[in-house]
Amino acid sequence: MNIRIKLAAIVMATYSSIAMAENFPVLPQLDTYKVPESWRQPVAPLKIADNTWQIGTQGITSLLLKGKEGAILIDGGMEQTAEHLLGNMRRLGIAPTDLKLILHSHAHADHIGPLAELKRITGAQVVTNAESAVLMARGGANDIHFADQILYPSVNADRILHNGEQVVLGDLRLRVHFIPGHTPGSMAWTWQDTVDSKVIDIAYVDSLTAPGYQLVNNLRYPDIVQDYRVSFERVRKLPCDLLITPHAGASGWVFHDTAKRERALSCEEYADKASKSLEKKLVNNSK
Ligand SMILES: [Zn+2]
Repeated sequence: MNIRIKLAAIVMATYSSIAMAENFPVLPQLDTYKVPESWRQPVAPLKIADNTWQIGTQGITSLLLKGKEGAILIDGGMEQTAEHLLGNMRRLGIAPTDLKLILHSHAHADHIGPLAELKRITGAQVVTNAESAVLMARGGANDIHFADQILYPSVNADRILHNGEQVVLGDLRLRVHFIPGHTPGSMAWTWQDTVDSKVIDIAYVDSLTAPGYQLVNNLRYPDIVQDYRVSFERVRKLPCDLLITPHAGASGWVFHDTAKRERALSCEEYADKASKSLEKKLVNNSK
């Protein structure tokens, strides 16, 4: 094959792999942690803003931020997603060693499952806070609410953040906001990007749900309700032209052939909705 034909073949292969997005085989189910198929259905790289891409699955967000001095990944999804994420990075021209930092929302298996493998393959540094770091180091074991039901390969943090701290990689600059509740280490991330030549504030805000949680007299997390309430306030005040959440649907996103919003949710609306749901749970708990 001469070089020109070879190049054409590579280009065709790249385009056809993006075009075949819907035909990615669904990733295998794990015996230990069964999740809906949409959480395991890979998508091709979907553009959200000029440097911000969804590279995960239909149901779970994994954001890749492309910068001049490398890339940042925020969240990896389920453990079995590692190869897919690396493939999508390649489709965007990001070699494994171009990935410099791995950030995340919270330390549950459906968002940070592949981080250990990704760190090993790429050499990227894992950046988190102290609360999340201890849970990540024990692979999700002894979780406050889930005990040992949702485990994942343990991963050590390379850098521990404090609330409000900035993470910088070349021209990429993000700020972390601690929003404890869903986990004690839950985080929101904010940064600026451009859409149609306009600068926008993107807020990637962690889950604010309390799925089956014991909210009253929880000996493992006595201040859980107070934490949620403080976090709702913090979320309301985030710079937030574009809200994205770890579970796409929670902020109205549909990740399929494109990344589109069925309904645009503001950070205030997202916090209000979560607040109503929490207060309702508290009333029901006290009955
Ligand atoms: Zn969770």
